[in-house]
Amino acid sequence: MDRKLKYPSDADLRRLLRFVPDSGAIWLGERRMVLLHTAALTALRQDLISSVGSEHARRLLTRMGYASGMRDAEFAKKTRSGRPLTEMFLVGPQLHMLEGAARVTPLRMEFDIAAGHFDGEFRWDDSWEAYAHRQKCGVVDEPACWTLLGYASGYTSAFMGRLILFKEVACAACGTDHCHIAGRPIESWPDGESFRHYFEDDSLLQKIEALSLQVEALTSTLEPAAQGGMLVGASKAFRRAHELMQRAANTQVTVLLTGETGVGKERFARALHEMSDRARAPFVAVNCAALPAELIEAELFGVEKGAYTGAHATRAGRFERADGGTLFLDEVGELPLPAQAKLLRVLQESEIERLGAQTTRVNVRLVAATNVDLEEAVKSGRFRRDLLYRLNVYPIRIPPLREREADIEPLAQHMLARFSALHHKRLGGFSDRALQVLQRHDWPGNVRELENLVERGVILASQGETVDIEHLFPNHPEALQTGVDHRGQLAAVTPLQHQELCARIVDSGIALEDLEAQVLALAVERSHGNLSGAARLVGMTRPQLAYRLRRQQTGSAEGDD
Ligand SMILES: [Zn+2]
Repeated sequence: MDRKLKYPSDADLRRLLRFVPDSGAIWLGERRMVLLHTAALTALRQDLISSVGSEHARRLLTRMGYASGMRDAEFAKKTRSGRPLTEMFLVGPQLHMLEGAARVTPLRMEFDIAAGHFDGEFRWDDSWEAYAHRQKCGVVDEPACWTLLGYASGYTSAFMGRLILFKEVACAACGTDHCHIAGRPIESWPDGESFRHYFEDDSLLQKIEALSLQVEALTSTLEPAAQGGMLVGASKAFRRAHELMQRAANTQVTVLLTGETGVGKERFARALHEMSDRARAPFVAVNCAALPAELIEAELFGVEKGAYTGAHATRAGRFERADGGTLFLDEVGELPLPAQAKLLRVLQESEIERLGAQTTRVNVRLVAATNVDLEEAVKSGRFRRDLLYRLNVYPIRIPPLREREADIEPLAQHMLARFSALHHKRLGGFSDRALQVLQRHDWPGNVRELENLVERGVILASQGETVDIEHLFPNHPEALQTGVDHRGQLAAVTPLQHQELCARIVDSGIALEDLEAQVLALAVERSHGNLSGAARLVGMTRPQLAYRLRRQQTGSAEGDD
């Protein structure tokens, strides 16, 4: 180190350090410190690496070092105010040594706080962390002084008032006899941005969530065609849609499937793929509404390692994975505008551009689907008009189930066979009453709603039994005709049915109190004495039910409490 960079005495810093064993505290100025065994830290470090992986461990340790560095920067201005800037800055390296991180030798330092300029290089000898890493992992390829580097970045960033990124040019963990670090504002490093995530808060849970979405999407692409890819239907409305699909199947035309939620657009898209000469190539489905907006471009178009914060590895997008086959974009109306622009480009040029990389040619047949009015979305500025024109070349409207009355029974039978196989049941088909109810329903939830009901029926019916109304609508006594609401959930009886029931009660002449007692007793019996279950059956809370039962037992004489 040249003359200018000689350390001033660290007596002022040593004075900050106070051991107060009686109170069980160690102080550095006003900050409480703790003495740790490096062996314990080494073990923690190793546990982190093996439980969350070295990338994530690196991030956690960098942030820990960063936090200490920032705290220590407070001492610089406090203890050396009025001294030359260099001496003030050297508080950091000197404290880092006092704290036992490494022997720090400044090699070069340039800084201009007003201009935000910093350029510095330091040598570290005997970094505890390089030693710890070598001890556990042997000689490695990548520098490993994560906590120490975090400290250097945190200290210098707090000192300079902007993010200064330190990197290890050489690290003892990689086999050299010392470490060598260099720091500059993050923007001055050509690859600086790819290091920013080490300093940012990041949730492992979010990452897991994103991964589980990916798994879900992948699973859906693996689902074999036989498990429902076949279309069932004979109604006029169905045949019309099917005919349009057949004509489009062996062309390259982009197909837009429209229709209400639950009509089975993915199944139609899959069928289109299977009818086409691309059937042997992949069918890749993406639900645009299910992916977080910030991940969607990377998901569709792929990402080059380091293209953005968190891009740890190069990954092919769905377009590339569907090469030669069909890409199905469900709920395309939910695509964010930047992704729309890229999609338009793919449609125009048949070229995709991974985030941070060059373009690649792809040969993909696009099938998009939407249940929103894209014209409306264009008017309100949420969807690009030029993209709509590109997508809307060959629209096919998938009819809602209520327009396919003739298909309800064949669909239900087909599903019965499929779910029976899935749940290992041999059943005697539907009862006539059950078919009647299915036929009469207006199916706001469409094919998906029918599917949910049939699967429930298959699960509830006993081996060898016929699927009856109570298997499809299990919570309601068969005397009451039940309906299903728009979510496919069982709904209360309709007002008309209420009226009929009330009329019957009044006609019977039964006292209301007795009726209540009987109803409650029935509910308790049906739930096998479980009061919470019984309360649910009659739409009460458990305390409400308990109160009423108690009142009945003690008699109405003292029932006015
Ligand atoms: Zn190192």
